[in-house]
Amino acid sequence: MPPPADIGSRVLLRRLRQVMAKPGDAQARLDRIVSVIAVNMVAEVCSIYLLREEQMLELCATEGLRKEAVHRTRFRFGQGLVGRIAASAEPFASRDAPRAPGFEYRPETGEEIYSSFCGVPIQRLGKVMGVLVVQNAAARDYSEEEIDALEVIAMVIAEMADAGQFTGEGFDLVRSAPKAYEGVGASDGAAIGVVHLHEPKAAITNPFTEDVEGERARLDAAMASLREEVDALVTADMGEATAEYRDVLEAYRMFAHDKGWLRRLHEAVAAGVVAEVAVERVQSAARSRMERAANPYLRDRLHDLDDLANRLLRRLGGGAPNGAPPDGAVLVGRTIGPGELLDHGKRLGGVVMEEGGLGSHAAIVARALAIPMVVGAERIVAEARNGDAIVVDADRGEAFLRPPENLRIAYEEKVALAAEAEARYRAIRSLPAETRDGHRISLQINAGLLSDMPNLFEVGAEGVGLYRTELQFLTRPTLPRRADQAALYGRVLDAAQGAPVIFRTLDIGSDKVLPYMKRPEEENPALGWRAIRVGLDKPFALKMQLQALLRGAGARPLSVMFPFVADEAEFYAARTILTETHARLQRLGYTVTTELKVGAMLETPSLAYASAAFFREVDFLSVGGNDLMQFFFAADRGNERVRRRYDALSAPFLSFLRRVASRASAAGTPVSFCGEAAGRPEEALALAALGFRSLSMRPASVGRVKYALRSVELGAVRAIIEEAMSGGAPARPAIGALLARSAEL
Ligand code: PEP
Ligand code: MG
Repeated sequence: MPPPADIGSRVLLRRLRQVMAKPGDAQARLDRIVSVIAVNMVAEVCSIYLLREEQMLELCATEGLRKEAVHRTRFRFGQGLVGRIAASAEPFASRDAPRAPGFEYRPETGEEIYSSFCGVPIQRLGKVMGVLVVQNAAARDYSEEEIDALEVIAMVIAEMADAGQFTGEGFDLVRSAPKAYEGVGASDGAAIGVVHLHEPKAAITNPFTEDVEGERARLDAAMASLREEVDALVTADMGEATAEYRDVLEAYRMFAHDKGWLRRLHEAVAAGVVAEVAVERVQSAARSRMERAANPYLRDRLHDLDDLANRLLRRLGGGAPNGAPPDGAVLVGRTIGPGELLDHGKRLGGVVMEEGGLGSHAAIVARALAIPMVVGAERIVAEARNGDAIVVDADRGEAFLRPPENLRIAYEEKVALAAEAEARYRAIRSLPAETRDGHRISLQINAGLLSDMPNLFEVGAEGVGLYRTELQFLTRPTLPRRADQAALYGRVLDAAQGAPVIFRTLDIGSDKVLPYMKRPEEENPALGWRAIRVGLDKPFALKMQLQALLRGAGARPLSVMFPFVADEAEFYAARTILTETHARLQRLGYTVTTELKVGAMLETPSLAYASAAFFREVDFLSVGGNDLMQFFFAADRGNERVRRRYDALSAPFLSFLRRVASRASAAGTPVSFCGEAAGRPEEALALAALGFRSLSMRPASVGRVKYALRSVELGAVRAIIEEAMSGGAPARPAIGALLARSAEL
């Protein structure tokens, strides 16, 4: 038998349903809701505050406070008791509210005569959308059951708000206004489309139920099948799991079997809501508790909890109402897994996520599929509705929800121009990247997933200038076995069909952290234990990878490059491991390549000052501009405030690159450039003019760089660079102007 308070709130929920069924606009609905709650809770006051702007709540309906305060009284998050509830996402009750810390008196409400106060957040999926308050004149305590009943009602109000029940004339809630988000562009390009929410919000047409037993049975069945699924998932993965990963799996399984979770779900259902609402309610409460947890381990587990709740929703049949996104839709979610992006593939127009960085797995996939993607768009999931118009500008790292007309038109033009440019690039796909004065540059792609490889032919590149092997390690929960690594490298070479591929050995550390690798806390991880430093300190993993590369290549030519070499001795040490491994495999009877090339990445300024012997010894050099620039200018590449501050076309950086190019050329060693800058036309022209004869970039950039190179005379670019270096001014404006003039010819 459910406890009496649940029966009470069930009656209340039934009444609410009855009043909601009556016709009327948003205001009339809210007015009816507050009066029904006030009567049932025996409270003199019941008020609903809803989010009207970012972090701003407005009194939208009240029974008991002065009517003239409606749509006038506002609280910022954190302000007054209402703002405090919104900011903390937790209920608050006091028998003597005027003396409670933070109380703010609003004369227009006439609330001074009410002593007791009880408020709960109106929230959905952990996002606060408003606050529901009851007040009484007499000093009284609110029981836990009463607070719980209010929370159930608040959940239902949140469902109604989300279903658009409180919108309309004179009642524009924040979510129907245009909204701009500043995040970070994780790929290139722009898109206009409609929102397709990834977070599967249940399409609940009726949040109430009379059939508590039926809902309970549905919930139990869904839970049983969820537990079975999780057990199978965890058992399957345990075999190869490291101790650390085992712990994570066990914790996941434990959450799925948590008795408290099921109890809370039962309690919510007993109060008269359908199972889907119960799941969301319990999930919301857990989210707000976890989000405030100081312990990072607990905060990380938030994703597990969300994941389990979403799986449960799917089992209830209400979890994936969106189905497949329509063609060209923009997928919007808090976090989106790489697998899900691969599922939808190029059909997506764009992707916007609240969380996740440039190195997130989803970002890697978005770049591979050339889908415009913005990460770090805070709160967009709560504010977007399925079908809302949205613009994604991945070049600038911005997204615009429900964009105003003029902005939409501007972007339509931008997207149309980009499509025209694409057609131009396609037309020159099989032509060489040769300048008007006859200099040929080899354009290569950066890759890291097997699925990147077809891009090689699609964009008309000559090879893979940088194969980031760590991606295979980052997208798996455990260390890939040597045989798996070898098979993958073999398949990469198969896919390249004889085109050259440069494999870079594991570049982990800094922003690329392997889930299964214990590493020390570092004050400055970008300057810390990473890349070749880890490889030399832990030669076991390096050797294993080198063996896998050699075995994967078999008799085919193999180029291996070591990342982040700061001192030539590191290169020699790593090369020795490679040549010894090569000799050993040969001795053991393996077929090994006779064309082994060993290169180094120049990513720290120090290597530009290595000995002339080093420049001769190394088979090839590749400048990793992303890292090099951050050290050259002392500007963290992951820090938005500073990362765009310095220009690759500034006189000092150009002088530095010229030095590298001329030292390599004096030694007769090929030098390429494989940072992001190589993919921007102005930079690519400058690099070519400085003597870089090979540029490696993300596939989406090959067309525009080839087009730029084919438009100009390299001599003219060289003259601009010389002038910039002698005068100290950046070369960008003049190169840009030259490009614009030449491209028109
Ligand atoms: C670079 O640093 O420029 C580079 C190509 O390597 P990554 O971006 O993977 O660090
Ligand atoms: Mg690098």
